[in-house]
Amino acid sequence: MALAAETKAIVGQYDYTDEDVNKGVKEFLRQMGEGLEKDGTSLSQIPTYVTAVPNGTEKGLYLAVDLGGTNFRVCSIQLNGDSTFHLTFSKVPIPKEMMVAKTSQELFAFLAKQIDVFLQTHHMADYDRHVRRRNTVSSPTGFKDEPVFRLGFTFSFPVKQVGINKGTLIRWTKGFDIPDAVGKDVCALLQVEIDKLHLPVKVAALVNDTVGTLMARSYTSPGKTGAVLGAIFGTGTNGAYLEKLANIKKPLEGEYDNSTGDMVINTEWGSFDNQLNVLPNTPWDIQVDKDSVNPGIQMFEKRVSGMFLGEIVRRTLLDMMGNEKMAFFKDENSSFNDWKSTTSIAEHSGIFKQWGLDSSIMSVAAADTTPELSTLRQELEGQLHVYSPSLEDAQAFKAVAGAVGRRAARLSAVAIGAIVLQTGQLSQAGDEPIDIGVDGSLVEHYPYFRDMIYEALRVIDGIGEEGAKRIRIGIAKDGSGVGAALIALVAAGMEKGQPVGEYVFPKPCLAKPPDRTNM
Ligand code: ADP
Ligand code: MG
Repeated sequence: MALAAETKAIVGQYDYTDEDVNKGVKEFLRQMGEGLEKDGTSLSQIPTYVTAVPNGTEKGLYLAVDLGGTNFRVCSIQLNGDSTFHLTFSKVPIPKEMMVAKTSQELFAFLAKQIDVFLQTHHMADYDRHVRRRNTVSSPTGFKDEPVFRLGFTFSFPVKQVGINKGTLIRWTKGFDIPDAVGKDVCALLQVEIDKLHLPVKVAALVNDTVGTLMARSYTSPGKTGAVLGAIFGTGTNGAYLEKLANIKKPLEGEYDNSTGDMVINTEWGSFDNQLNVLPNTPWDIQVDKDSVNPGIQMFEKRVSGMFLGEIVRRTLLDMMGNEKMAFFKDENSSFNDWKSTTSIAEHSGIFKQWGLDSSIMSVAAADTTPELSTLRQELEGQLHVYSPSLEDAQAFKAVAGAVGRRAARLSAVAIGAIVLQTGQLSQAGDEPIDIGVDGSLVEHYPYFRDMIYEALRVIDGIGEEGAKRIRIGIAKDGSGVGAALIALVAAGMEKGQPVGEYVFPKPCLAKPPDRTNM
């Protein structure tokens, strides 16, 4: 009984009330406004120079790569021009040591190598043709007008974008830390390594995954309106939305098409409220932040995204294990355990190591609603090497993980709700849905994550039950791939000297669901 009662007290610290949600929304709106006015605020509100969303008539074969945090994805996308596309896909985990490599060259050489492997596996014919052509000309750079793949580079870290395929890294997030890359043009870093391997690939566009998700959702979502927000809940969290040009008060350098009156803004909301005006801050949040590579930064992300949720849970559990009164993952003797064994934990259990508890086990805990919690208990054995956990242990684990997950979903609703209010669409007449594209393992796999978001949206002043009904949150799976291809297409048009206007997408139209292979 002691365990259940003590757990309750701990879980209570993760409560995020309806009142908290509303306070959060107000502060989020305030910080959004601040970011639209000047640079250097906690919500960066980065202009992307993308001024509209696609309509489904775009055509061509493009490459896209996505450096997101946990995995590196390479794909080729055939845009069919009739709102459908064909996607070929590969994914490799990024080795932890690459995230903190001594030089950025090491990381980018690794990425270029994966593109090489992908081309050889899936586009051998194009690859061969390229090599043959190279071998028939004396110039080491080949023919001038040599056909090359245009590549959209989804790079999901804060970047100061200065051109469609040019942008300098502002700071690393999500556990990456390679100091020499900061301030450099990440497209150039990748192009140099691609050229070393003589690949027929040109880095044509730099894309934030949130912008890609917004574009892809607009291309594929049903109905005649485009999406207003693309949001990621994966290793990290971030969102990009369509803002009115008139609201962007800080200077916009460079050229852009102003005929739509809109521009996509990359919020970089992972850094919302770094100053902790309204964000919850438990002792375990403090520990996670203190031992991270960027203390004091990405404070919203550290309470919401996949990379951090498991670590918050782990820190909480460790404290519970250290509390003698609780007898957590501990039996006095086997009669105290319904599996008639005593619980033991391997020394090498992830419980004892930073980042040792992957957020995915939280999904297992949330999904297991059986009386014995046997799936979760097997997972505790398999993943965490906690042997013979008792039912009470599993219940305590489930309660803590559930509380951390629920708080994350309600915080996500703060960001989504604030942006919906900011767009002003709810006050416009009609019952057109307000479409939001989301991507990332957390929102995709954590049971009821979206339901918990909706639950919180309904209590937000200015949204309410009726407003929440109009908000349509849909998965834009691997949106970053298709979105990057769409932006690479815009870029290819600009290269040929064609007027940007022809490629800046007009209002979106009806689209069919994607066709996919290799998933
Ligand atoms: P990326 O951010 O690299 O694009 P993902 O969207 O797949 O990749 O997110 C990976 C993150 O999601 C990791 O931090 C991982 O711990 C977490 N994650 C993966 N599967 C699940 C799951 N089933 N439930 C909750 N979190 C998950
Ligand atoms: Mg991602």
